[in-house]
Amino acid sequence: MKILHAFSTDLNQDITATKADSLFPEKIKSPQNFVCIDEVCRAPITCVNLANPAEKRKRVLHFKLSSELRPHTKDCCVQKDIDGQSKKISRNTNNHHNTNEDKEFIFHILPDDTKNKPEQYSNNNLGSSHLIKETSIKKTSTHQGYLEEVIDIFHNNPNQQILIKVEKKLFNIQELLTHIPNFQGDKQWHIYHGKGWINKKEDKYYIKFIENVLYHNLQYTASFFIMKNFILQLTSKNTIQKRLEKLSNISKPYQIFILTNNFKENKNFINLDFKGMRYCAFIEI
Ligand SMILES: [Zn+2]
Repeated sequence: MKILHAFSTDLNQDITATKADSLFPEKIKSPQNFVCIDEVCRAPITCVNLANPAEKRKRVLHFKLSSELRPHTKDCCVQKDIDGQSKKISRNTNNHHNTNEDKEFIFHILPDDTKNKPEQYSNNNLGSSHLIKETSIKKTSTHQGYLEEVIDIFHNNPNQQILIKVEKKLFNIQELLTHIPNFQGDKQWHIYHGKGWINKKEDKYYIKFIENVLYHNLQYTASFFIMKNFILQLTSKNTIQKRLEKLSNISKPYQIFILTNNFKENKNFINLDFKGMRYCAFIEI
């Protein structure tokens, strides 16, 4: 199971390995300065490859339990998900995944030399970059992961060319990023982003952007929901629940990102279509 977040003892917050990369060695002092996100567990975690320069990494940067020091506690959210997953695999030999969490989210990081040939990759015309041929991205590094990792890489280096693949189409991250006040009102793919609040309701987490959107000349609040029932079907349900609980318990806004291509209008709200946990990101401001 992929550990998306670990608690940084240098920063006192949960971060991704890609974020750690951008802060090492200035703010993150050592690959060992991480522990489990579960406040009771706090098992030691290592950020593998953090101290190696990017070009020398044979495997991608990732968090790993330093199990020789101490394992997770029995009730830790990460351990519960690991236990649940191994049970599921032994029960289900077909190993078919039908959870939304497993829906593929693929992104490509283009090598630095492509910066010299921007015409090949960058497109100012919306939606045109899906014409980029698969062959032209052969040399790129391909990742499967979460939108939050892509955003962290982009924040670390805004000049880095990143291609995101959704429904077999390739998009340059720059043409997907749409600040929420510039809501397009179309059914195309966008990464809507802006400051917003995460609130907890009985049956769902309710995410509301602070800035309004204009749609058919009327002002709306943009929002989306993550139903608790949805989380319960996921293989990482305990870890995801823990993260959303933490985020919703702190009363401060976050920088919110959601990759979506649909919405519904409902009274004063534009409800953006939530596509799964891999398709949204909540970043501390
Ligand atoms: Zn743990």
